[in-house]
Amino acid sequence: MTSLLQQIIPGQQVTGPEFPDYDVLQGCIRCGRCLPVCPTYQETTLETMSPRGRLALLRAVEDGKLDLTSSIADYLYHCLDCRACNTVCPPGVPIGELILDGRAAYAVKAGRPWWARIALDRFLTSARAMEPVMRMARLYQRLGLPRVVRPVLRALKGRHPAFHTLFHMEGLLPRLPSQPLHARLAEVTPAQGERRYRVGFFLGCMMSQVLADVSQATVRVLTRNGCEVVTPPGQVCCGAPHDDQGNKRMARDLARRNIDLFARYQDLDVIVADCAACAGMIKEYPHLLRDDPVYYPRALAMARRMRDVSEWLAEVLDDAVPLAEVRCTVTYHEPCHLANAQGVREPPVRVLRRIPGLELRPLPDSTRCCGSAGIYNLTHPEMADRLLEDKVRKIAGTGADTVVTGNPGCLLQIQMGVREHGIPVRVRHLTQLLDEAYARAESSRAR
Ligand code: SF4
Ligand code: SF4
Repeated sequence: MTSLLQQIIPGQQVTGPEFPDYDVLQGCIRCGRCLPVCPTYQETTLETMSPRGRLALLRAVEDGKLDLTSSIADYLYHCLDCRACNTVCPPGVPIGELILDGRAAYAVKAGRPWWARIALDRFLTSARAMEPVMRMARLYQRLGLPRVVRPVLRALKGRHPAFHTLFHMEGLLPRLPSQPLHARLAEVTPAQGERRYRVGFFLGCMMSQVLADVSQATVRVLTRNGCEVVTPPGQVCCGAPHDDQGNKRMARDLARRNIDLFARYQDLDVIVADCAACAGMIKEYPHLLRDDPVYYPRALAMARRMRDVSEWLAEVLDDAVPLAEVRCTVTYHEPCHLANAQGVREPPVRVLRRIPGLELRPLPDSTRCCGSAGIYNLTHPEMADRLLEDKVRKIAGTGADTVVTGNPGCLLQIQMGVREHGIPVRVRHLTQLLDEAYARAESSRAR
C-alpha cells in the first residue's frame, strides 16, 4: 500500500496545502477528550465517527496502511465541521481543518461529484451568480407551488434519499425577497446622526438572496449606532461551501478576490458580517492561504479587520440611542462557526441583555450543532434531522417564545424544525430583535 501523497501523484512527494500535514496529525495524543462533544460520535458511538477516529484514519492513510477510499471519505464527510472538538483538544490539534484537508485530498484523488461541480462551482460563487436559480425559486413560490409540492415530498421522503434531500431543500426556503439585497443596497449607507465609524459590510450570498430582510435590519442597526456602512460591489462568496466540500482551489480563488476588493477600502475601521459562517471563513483566510507568500500577509490584514456583527455591536452600541421594550422570552442558539470556530460566545448575549423587557432563558447544549452545517442537511439529511429534533426539543423545553441565532444556516434549519414540529416559537437574528427595539422607540417618539 502506498502513502496518501503517493496515491495522489504516484512516485512524487507532494507537500501542497490540500494534504493533511503529517506532523500536525501526529499531535493527537488519543486522550479522547473530543469524543463526548462530537455530535456524530454522540449519535453513533462509532470511533470512526469521532474526531479522534477520523484523525486516526487520515494517519493510517498517510502511513500507507489504508487506501484513501470512498468509505474513508464517507467518514470525513459525515463530520459537521462544527469545530466542537477543536475547543476541547488539550494539545490544540486543528481537527476540523485537518478533516477538511482530508476531504480535499480525496477530491484531488477521486474527483468531486457532478452536483457539487454544478451547484457550488457554477452558481454558489456569488449572490449575483445565484440569480438564475433564485429567479426560478421566486417564481415557484409566487405560483403557490409549495402548497402542492411540500405534502408530496413529505409523503415520499422515506422512499429514497433524493426525495429526503428535496424535502429539506424545499422546507428550508423561507418566503423569498422580491429582490436580492445586493441589487438594492447602496455602496455607502450614511450613518444616522454623527458618523463615528466607517464599517465595511461583507454581505453573504445567502443573506443577500434569501435573508435580505435580516441584512437590511443589520445595516439599519449599524447606521443607528453611528456607522457609515460601506458595501463594496463585486463581492464574491466567502469560499466556505467550497472549502467544506473539498474544493480548496476555488476557495482560495474566491478568498483572493475578496481580499483584493476590500484592500481598496483602507479607511474602514472594521469589516462586519452578519453571517457567522462568512466571518469565520474570512478569519481563516490566513490558514487557507498559508502557502501563498503574496496573499498570506493580505489575508492576515483582512482577517484582523473582520468582526462578526455581534462582536462589533457589543463594542459600539450607543447608550444615547434609545431602545424600546421588546417583551419576549428569548433563548439563544450559538452557531458553531461563531462559538467554536471564532470563539465568540459572550458578545451576542451581552447585546441581547441590552434590550429592555427581554427575558433570556439558557438553552441546554446551546453550542451543539443544529444539523444545518453548510449543506450537510442536504447531503446527510438523516443525521441532520436527528440533530435538529434534539435542538427543537431543547428549544421547546426552555418555554421561550423566540429563539435567536446569528447564522443563515441555523436560522433556516431551526425555522424549518419548529414549523415541522408545530412549536410556536419565532426565529430571529440578533440584529432583527435590536432593529425591532429601535423601531419601536422611534415610532413612540414620533407619536
Ligand atoms: S468538527 Fe464536529 S462533527 Fe466533526 S469531528 Fe469535530 S466535533 Fe465531530
Ligand atoms: S482531544 Fe485532541 S488529542 Fe485528544 S483524542 Fe481528540 S484529537 Fe486527539
